[in-house]
Amino acid sequence: GGMRSLVLIGHGSHLNGESAAAVYRYAELIRGRGLFDEVVEGYWKEEPSLRQVLKTTASTDVTVIPMFISEGYFTETVIPRELGLGHQGPVPEGGVARVLGGRTVRYTLPYGVHPSMRDVIVARAREALPDLDAGDTALVVLGHGTTRNENSNRVIYENAQALRESGLFAEVHALFLDEDPKVGTWPEKIRAPRVVVVPFFASEGWHTLETIPEDMGLSGDVTEFPDTPHGPQTVYYAKPVGTHPAVADVILHLAEEARGASERGGDEDRGWHAAWQALVSLARRGGRLGEVMIVPQSGVYEVRHALDEGRPGSELTTVVTPEGLRDLTRRDEGGNHRPVHTLRNLPRGWRAVLSEDDLLRGVHFLYPAVVEETYAHHCRSLRATPWPTTARRQTGIYARVQRATPEQVEHVASEVCAGCLRTRLWAGETLAQTFFAGVPGAIPCAEACTLLVAEVREEVSGKRGAAGH
Ligand code: SF4
Repeated sequence: GGMRSLVLIGHGSHLNGESAAAVYRYAELIRGRGLFDEVVEGYWKEEPSLRQVLKTTASTDVTVIPMFISEGYFTETVIPRELGLGHQGPVPEGGVARVLGGRTVRYTLPYGVHPSMRDVIVARAREALPDLDAGDTALVVLGHGTTRNENSNRVIYENAQALRESGLFAEVHALFLDEDPKVGTWPEKIRAPRVVVVPFFASEGWHTLETIPEDMGLSGDVTEFPDTPHGPQTVYYAKPVGTHPAVADVILHLAEEARGASERGGDEDRGWHAAWQALVSLARRGGRLGEVMIVPQSGVYEVRHALDEGRPGSELTTVVTPEGLRDLTRRDEGGNHRPVHTLRNLPRGWRAVLSEDDLLRGVHFLYPAVVEETYAHHCRSLRATPWPTTARRQTGIYARVQRATPEQVEHVASEVCAGCLRTRLWAGETLAQTFFAGVPGAIPCAEACTLLVAEVREEVSGKRGAAGH
């Protein structure tokens, strides 16, 4: 007993790896604190997907934190639905707790709405202006501003109010990019000679690099304005809050609060344990899984692309950590991002030498959820979700995939899934044996992945070119 898993949920991307990289960094920071037995990442548009991620946790006590700066469509609709929480809409203060497949799952509010984010705002302000002073410094908490979700604005106002009461600043203003009070009105509103601007944004991007500086008239980290309605002023532009290392503390606060005082933690999940024991057995005798081969070598394991069999180690890039393996295999040989890891485009030219514990994490990164799902199929306990069920679940811009004809779905799958190792159980294909029985490429696909859903949407919208993708 007493085992605990933490799951960090990111948006991820089908096109570029940067979005997931931010979540990796926080997962690594929190792993380093040693407070959880494991920290697992899950994504909407990458793997392990939201549909798979709970199966990949080792313990029966799971805390899930959405790595989003504000509440909204993803935190209130998409993530709870895809995790199967049976909850929709605003998440209450203490989170939502459910028992799912033998695991106690606690789903929290996104990190951005936690009150301790104001410490991160102050930390960012101090980086931009180390000698900030209540005598002469104004703070701007800068939000995106959106009419779609009032809650995200409320958080900006609440932070501004709390920081006003803190007495650290001469003035504190909540300003927005897309609604009133707009950020461009700052010279009328702010009297203090020094102004520090902290973007309440998840990450550096188009808004923080282009639109905010443009709307405020900034020319860099520090901009002098010799002649404003209130005399000369200097604006110090801070980095966005969402990438500050102190966000790791906010995440831990959230996890602690979700857990409650009396919880004792969970046990090792039996299904998870059995699946990984089977993988260890495969590794100990040496074998293949997907596109890789695992060879035991006096106490450690070597993983490499099966097509690199026999090549001298000196010709290959060697990594010795699970993260090293992950980073080498996140792109194909053309440098393209690999959102679906079972696509047959694993790059060659590397080898990973790993201990047994590291092998498990390495294979988790290399083929997320594949060991758990394939073992379940091996034991005849993997349930497939037919396409119509997946289509019916979709909302927002993906709702239109419900209009796809079976022929359209099949046409898209014949292109997208043709390049994938997985066998489409969701389309009625069968898979008699898996890599656990010695068939390396035999991996089940229990339901359409988000890449396929996105491609079907393009097809229905008439945007998929004749040349395909
Ligand atoms: Fe692979 Fe197709 Fe399944 Fe996606 S839907 S994981 S591309 S088989």
